Parts: sequence; structure tokens; C-alpha cells
Amino acid sequence: METNVITVGLPRAMLYYRCRTLWGVFFRELGVDTVTSGPTDREILERGSALAIDEACLSLKIYLGHVAALVGKCDYILVPRVSNFGHHRNMCTRFEAMPDLVKNVFRDVPQKFLTCSVDVLAGQDEEHAFLSLGRQLGFGPKTVKRAYKLAKRAELTQYRARVQKQEELCKREGLKILIAGHSYVVEDPYVGKVVTDYLKGVGVTPLRADLTEREHALKRSRELSPTCKWEISREILGGIALRKNEVDGIILLSAFPCGPDAMVNELIARRVKGIPMLNLVLDSQTGTAGVETRLESFIDIIRLKEGKL
Ligand code: SF4
Repeated sequence: METNVITVGLPRAMLYYRCRTLWGVFFRELGVDTVTSGPTDREILERGSALAIDEACLSLKIYLGHVAALVGKCDYILVPRVSNFGHHRNMCTRFEAMPDLVKNVFRDVPQKFLTCSVDVLAGQDEEHAFLSLGRQLGFGPKTVKRAYKLAKRAELTQYRARVQKQEELCKREGLKILIAGHSYVVEDPYVGKVVTDYLKGVGVTPLRADLTEREHALKRSRELSPTCKWEISREILGGIALRKNEVDGIILLSAFPCGPDAMVNELIARRVKGIPMLNLVLDSQTGTAGVETRLESFIDIIRLKEGKL
């Protein structure tokens, strides 16, 4: 089979920010080309918003905009389903519904989608999902297992380097703010990156609650909530438990309307005391000026409290 002619499209949204190394190395090792949609901009958001129902969260609207941007530019668009990684390790239901939702939204478009399912509670772990992806593309199990193994190794190396960078940032002098949010909100250039850019611009070091050693974070999350069942929320809760005494403030950053964040951020506000906290909920109408004004006041309050203003 001529594998090098296959091109898989990767929407630059949602799980992309968590899995880009895993996916990139996996497809590269199979000899499959990948094409990634461009950074989020107003056009992508508007296309996604027009395709989504009004009640959809900002992240989902952005995701649909990225899928639309890839239609016709590749053989397949990767749309995985991720339900859970085990007991009390669930993903938000949007991730569970994603393949069905995308196939329905793009039902009149002649585009093929490549999908797989991670549902550990139903006996389908991540390796099983990747074996399925490889099989759909025509590769044998031995080749796919090798590609998956190399991709996992690369992902771990990259993740450890990012966690190590956080450790180094944590030792810096000056004001440090912990940003608690999903990676696809925090890192998206059209959404949360404006926050990190602003903080850096005023000499504040932004740290990430979701960039800590994952297994450790999951254990520490129980200090704030022994019952939270969302995997990424638990990583963030654990990150807050780990870092809260090393930072000057916390920014809870979420996309409107987010069910898990609405509950979890309320819980954080009630249980994490003695540290300034800003709850920033971004939607498609939030302008950068409004965000910057709120950040400016927040930083001024912290500096005033610490006698640095
Ligand atoms: S966790 Fe929140 S922001 Fe993420 S997909 Fe679910 S509803 Fe949207």
C-alpha cells in the first residue's frame, strides 16, 4: 500500500494541545502526512459558531471552525472519541460525542473522518484506539504498535520537558500567577494566550496548573475534591494543590459556557483560601481590552497587597 499518499488533517483545537506530539509522531512513523489547521482567528471562530448550536461552549465552536478549515484539504480528518481513562477519570461529554457530532454537522460534505475510541471502562484503552486508527489506514498491528510506542516515548519526553520548564519558572524572582484552565483554552492564540501574553508583558511570570506530573496531580486533586470525576479538572485541581503556596495569585480561565469549569471553579473559590483569585470566563464576544482591564486591576491588587505598588 502507498502509505505516503495518505494525509490526515489535525484540527488545531481541543485535544490537539494535549496530543499533538503523540499524534504527530504516530502518523510520521507510519509514513502518513499530516496537515494542521492554522491558528484560531476570527474567521475560524465565526465558521465554527455558525455550525454549532448556540448552547455549545466556545471551545467546541472553535473546534468545528478548525474542522471546516480542513475539509477538502486532506484524505481524513482525525476526530477521536475520548470517554474516560478509567474510574473517576472521565472526559467532558463533548469529547465523548465528538465523532458523531462532527459527522452529523458535516453530513453533506464529501469528507472522510478518521476516528477511534478511548473508553477504558469498556475495555478500550489508548493503545487499542491507536491500533484501530492504524488498521483503518491499512497498516498491520506490528507496524502500528511500533509507531505508537515511539509516539508515547516522544510524548513523555516532551511532557517532562514542559513540566521541568514550569519548575524553573517557579524559582524565578518576582510576581508569579498560576493559570488554571484547559490547555485548549489557555494556549489558543485567539482565546487564552492573550492572558499569558499580557502577564509576561507586565513582568509577571505565568505558571500553568495543568503542567505538573500527571499521576501526582491526580492524587493531590483529592485534597480539593475527593469526588471530581473529570480527568482534566482533576489535573488542574492537583496542580493548584501543588503550586498554591508558590504563587502570588490564581487565574481561573474558562470558555463560556463550560459545565465542568462552572462547578470546579466554584469549588476552587470556596476551598482555596488566602490567595487572590480572578475568575475569567471568555466567550466569543470578549474583547482583549476587557480582559486586559481586569488583569491590570488584578495585578494592581496583588502588588498593593504585597506592598509592591
Ligand atoms: S470541558 Fe468545558 S470547555 Fe471543554 S469541551 Fe467541555 S464544556 Fe467545552
